[in-house]
Amino acid sequence: MKMSQLYLATLREVPAEAEIASHQLMLRAGLIHKVAMGIYSYMPLGWRTIKKIMEIIRQEMDAKGGQELCMPIVQPAELWQDSGRWWVYGQELMRMKDRHGRDFLLGPTHEEVITAHLKQDVRSYKQLPQMPYQIQTKFRDERRPRFGVIRSREFIMKDLYSFDRDEEGLDISYNKMYDAYTRVFSRCGLTCRPVAADTGAIGGEGSHEFMALSEIGESQILFCHHCDYAATDEIAAVDPVPTGVGEEMLPMEPVETPDCKTVEDLAKFLGTTTDRTVKTLCYKAIYENEEKFFVALIRGDRQVNEIKLQNVMGCLELRFAQDDEVREHGMEPGFCGPVGLAEDIEIIADREVPLMVNHECGDGRKDYHLINVNYQRGDYRISKVADIALVEKGAACPHCGQPLDTARGIEVGQIFKLHTKYSAKMGARYVDENGKEHDMVMGCYGIGVGRTMAAVIEQNHDEHGIIWPITVAPYEVSIVPVNDKDEWLMAKAEELYNQLLARRVEVVLDDRKERPGVKFNDADLLGFPLRVVMGKKCHETGIAEIKIRATGEVIEVALEDLVDKVLALREQMFAELTPAL
Ligand code: ATP
Ligand code: MG
Repeated sequence: MKMSQLYLATLREVPAEAEIASHQLMLRAGLIHKVAMGIYSYMPLGWRTIKKIMEIIRQEMDAKGGQELCMPIVQPAELWQDSGRWWVYGQELMRMKDRHGRDFLLGPTHEEVITAHLKQDVRSYKQLPQMPYQIQTKFRDERRPRFGVIRSREFIMKDLYSFDRDEEGLDISYNKMYDAYTRVFSRCGLTCRPVAADTGAIGGEGSHEFMALSEIGESQILFCHHCDYAATDEIAAVDPVPTGVGEEMLPMEPVETPDCKTVEDLAKFLGTTTDRTVKTLCYKAIYENEEKFFVALIRGDRQVNEIKLQNVMGCLELRFAQDDEVREHGMEPGFCGPVGLAEDIEIIADREVPLMVNHECGDGRKDYHLINVNYQRGDYRISKVADIALVEKGAACPHCGQPLDTARGIEVGQIFKLHTKYSAKMGARYVDENGKEHDMVMGCYGIGVGRTMAAVIEQNHDEHGIIWPITVAPYEVSIVPVNDKDEWLMAKAEELYNQLLARRVEVVLDDRKERPGVKFNDADLLGFPLRVVMGKKCHETGIAEIKIRATGEVIEVALEDLVDKVLALREQMFAELTPAL
């Protein structure tokens, strides 16, 4: 492509709405245009990268036995009523009616549609396993679209579904996808870490998220430097470390604690440490048709992980109870405690709490706390003990005991074991060798294509622009003749351009009538991996320069050797990103 004809939509200014590098660069390089909040077009240069990522995904899915198909974006409500998700998916689901008043939705994911197909088409064990997949548009009416295509409302996803006879089959399919995902992301030039993950709204047990490591990532990961433990903070769990164990239980007493609003105030006032206190947090659990007041108990120096707590309550959302709601339940905000709470209030306790001896907690009355409280003595009631604690940096690794470290990541893909969650509800069954019927055992596997592109930029850029890994670069090589008035030079540049095209190299020729500075700035911004600069020296000594975008390295090459050198560098760059089979 000649740059004079390229659909180029670069911006000089950094757009104000973009907070992070990848979003800014995608807008500045003209890769995407915003159409509405969380809704974007991919412009020609951006779409070339998307197509390359999709092609890498296709190759890796096909290599594992995946078969591509394409399902509709618009789905009938009945399918979602069969699975039950019509009533629980919440506001992210974009619902609509057709002209006959029938309910439809824009697919946020496709478990229902694919399960309905397999239900119709598969009768016998002989037809299993199956791995259909598609790369297609999804819609989720996200509450907070942000970071451009990292969290948009309309986005492109690869979704593959596995259908097996049994759990062993599912394990095989799952491991194949785990391997395929590892290959996809490394071929895209991403540094990724697979981590054990929460299964969220899709449900089922067993899941990994593939995290592209990045400071701007929305997910927090805990991992161990000494063993292979890695998990998102949504499920990371460490062994309980209760305080006071082995002490003799002392009599429980109320103490006047004026102005002690926080656990730190309280611990200081009582001359103890925050890990000897228990915090009582009042919440409302929000369900489809009701809200329920409950309390959560956790060691004073720990934080509640609200995803874990939400899973324990099985609710759609959580919020803190307001002061008047707390008072309605007989407690003074800031001084809440579990002792003497009404029988109908559910009390969820983190695993450490019932094991603690002689702990402090709120008394319920203003300006009072209780000391030497003991669950084991029957001082208060707990409805359910569960792991609801946020694991923080330095906690002991549950596998090897070494201190855990934290990192942030962008979730570019997730794989789930669904087991029979959908097949059982929707009646997707097969008949085995003995004529016996079974539910198909399913898995589902998603990759955010646009989010992957953004994550690649997030990990591969500098102050001048994008540094594309060659596998996903819109073009691999740019040729920049510095003087467009020099006919000999322009002819040489065009000759090189044609020779590279003939060898199927994806190349742009910057034939624009622009100053060299403009051309170099654009080349840096657009980030093509190899740049051939043909300048004065070319004329005088027959030497051109190849600049490697990633390292800044400049290699001088005689004109007659240029094609071979470009091909060799290009091949080497591809080889570096291709994992061994
Ligand atoms: P998140 O937790 O980030 O909202 P999710 O866990 O709900 O994502 P999945 O249902 O696992 O998403 O979807 C599979 C993949 O699709 C994700 O790993 C991610 O790469 C991509 N994806 C999900 N939501 C979005 C979105 N709003 N915008 C862009 N990509 C998305
Ligand atoms: Mg996910």
